Amino acid sequence: MKICPRCKRLHSDTYTECTECGKPLRGIESENEETYLITAEGFEREHIRASLQDAGIPCVPRFRNDMYSSDEVTGKGTSLAEINVPFSAFTKAYDTCVMIGAIDPEKPLTFDMDEAEKMCREIGEKNKDKIKEEMSPSKRTTYKVLGAVLFLLLVAVVVWGTDFITAWIKGLFGG
Ligand SMILES: [Zn+2]
Repeated sequence: MKICPRCKRLHSDTYTECTECGKPLRGIESENEETYLITAEGFEREHIRASLQDAGIPCVPRFRNDMYSSDEVTGKGTSLAEINVPFSAFTKAYDTCVMIGAIDPEKPLTFDMDEAEKMCREIGEKNKDKIKEEMSPSKRTTYKVLGAVLFLLLVAVVVWGTDFITAWIKGLFGG
C-alpha cells in the first residue's frame, strides 16, 4: 500500500507514480497519515463532513482550486474540496460515504480495498498493544511496590521522629 505525498491518494504497491498528479509514491508512515477520501462541493461536502463526524471520524477538507483551474474560470471551483481522513479511519470513512451514497462502490480504485482494510486493522491492533504495554501488569506491580516502600519510609520517619522528640524532651527535663 502506497500513498501520494502531494494529493494523498492511496495506490497499490504496483504503482510507482500517482495516477492523479504524477508524483512518485511513498509508503504509509503512520496511522494518522492524511488520506484522500472524496472530492465534493457545497451541500454534498457538508453532508459528508457531518456524516463522518457522526461516525467519529475527523476529516480535513482541502480546497484545491489550483488543481481545477478550468472550474475556477467558470466560478464553480470555489467550494470544491477534497476531503481527507486519517489513514486508520479510512475504510470506515469509505464505508460511511458508500452508505450515504456519496461514493459508488462499483467505481474502480487505484488500490485494493481489502488490503487497505487489512492495514487499517493491523495499525489498530498495534495501537492496542501500545496501550496495553503502557499499563502492563508488571508496570502496575512496580508502582504498587514503590507506593508501599514510600509508605513504609513515611511511617519510619514518623516513628523515629517521635522517638527522637520524646528523647529530646526527656533530656531537657533531666529525665
Ligand atoms: Zn497525487
